[in-house]
Amino acid sequence: MIRLPRFDFHAPRTITEAAALLADAPAETMLLAGGTDVVPKMKRRQQGPRRLVALRQVAGLGTILHRDGELVIGACATLSSLVHDARLRESVHGLWQAAAQVATPHLRNMGTIGGNLCLDTRCTYYDQSQEWRKSINFCMKKDGDICWVATSSPRCLAVSSTDTAPMLLALGARVRLVSTQGERVIAASDLYRNDGIEYLSRRTDEILADVQIPEPGQWRSCYWKLRRRGSFDFPVASVAAAVRLDGDRVVESRIVLGAVASRPLVSEKAARLLAGQLLTDDVIAAAADGAYEIAKPMDNTDFELIWRKRMVRALTTYALRELRGDDVRELRLRIARQDLIAVS
Ligand SMILES: Cc1cc2nc3c(=O)[nH]c(=O)nc-3n(C[C@H](O)[C@H](O)[C@H](O)COP(=O)(O)OP(=O)(O)OC[C@H]3O[C@@H](n4cnc5c(N)ncnc54)[C@H](O)[C@@H]3O)c2cc1C
Ligand code: SF4
Repeated sequence: MIRLPRFDFHAPRTITEAAALLADAPAETMLLAGGTDVVPKMKRRQQGPRRLVALRQVAGLGTILHRDGELVIGACATLSSLVHDARLRESVHGLWQAAAQVATPHLRNMGTIGGNLCLDTRCTYYDQSQEWRKSINFCMKKDGDICWVATSSPRCLAVSSTDTAPMLLALGARVRLVSTQGERVIAASDLYRNDGIEYLSRRTDEILADVQIPEPGQWRSCYWKLRRRGSFDFPVASVAAAVRLDGDRVVESRIVLGAVASRPLVSEKAARLLAGQLLTDDVIAAAADGAYEIAKPMDNTDFELIWRKRMVRALTTYALRELRGDDVRELRLRIARQDLIAVS
């Protein structure tokens, strides 16, 4: 059994109290939501906060509000509560699909949307026990000074592995950040940086309070995820797609790639190629090529990186076919079984 290191524990009841505790010593404090990522990382000494501020008892952070023209999800809403919300499943189907594919039912019962958005980046050389990491003299993400994935790289290339972030970017979501200095609302896209260590633009004294999704129901959306085990696993490539249609014609779209960089990547080119078009096979193929171009998987997670990159083209194709209205149930099953490696 691996023991947790010693730490102080606080369970504030209000966000003002939580923000004050965080502001007191931001460098030594970590926020704890469901704890499904923080706790194992503390055990493996990947993270070693002196103090944990738990958010689960903070009033108002666990609610899902369907308002006119907006869906607001509190940071501590569990992924299970998203999955069981029938209105959410209908109005932002892609987010429902993404949440439903995170980990296992037990972990979704504990894991929150805020924790999923702020999830640490992952890497084969980092997600290991302390003894394993010590045997390679650690790496620059924790306790070392070199990147074992690319030894000349000046930055860490660990992979953004959150399922809901790409989908929320595709849905044009915003996040509200609260601190003792006040609050600010930013585009979810601006929350992320392409750096495996400093992967968030959130200041260390800020709490992610909620996620706001504009115009739910106005966008058709879906999420496609590649992982080794169909039952549960982190994504090693994913595509979140959202389109606003006028009849069958695309008015606006967002294609966002997950798990192929240290942040979710927005394919501007795919969106440009789709604008004003019908979702024909040719248009879909061109958009999938556009998405493929920006995918930069590294050799630091499951599967071979060239194959992961190729799968981005395939996943984008399937996603757009799904948004066009094709029956993709068989394709989804085959992806889960890993027996589909090229677009037919
Ligand atoms: C076996 C296993 C499989 C998994 N599979 C997946 C998967 O397929 N897909 C996936 O996306 N994840 C997966 N996870 C990771 C994790 O379970 C989920 O990402 C979960 O949603 C994390 O939420 P949490 O509330 O438990 O976060 P926590 O562990 O509590 O926190 C995670 C991070 O977010 C920060 N944080 C939490 N809440 C806030 C907030 N409100 N404001 C600012 N910072 C905050 C914490 O300080 C910490 O850095 C898996 C985990 C395990 C153990
Ligand atoms: S990408 Fe490099 S620095 Fe980052 S965790 Fe992996 S080995 Fe370490």
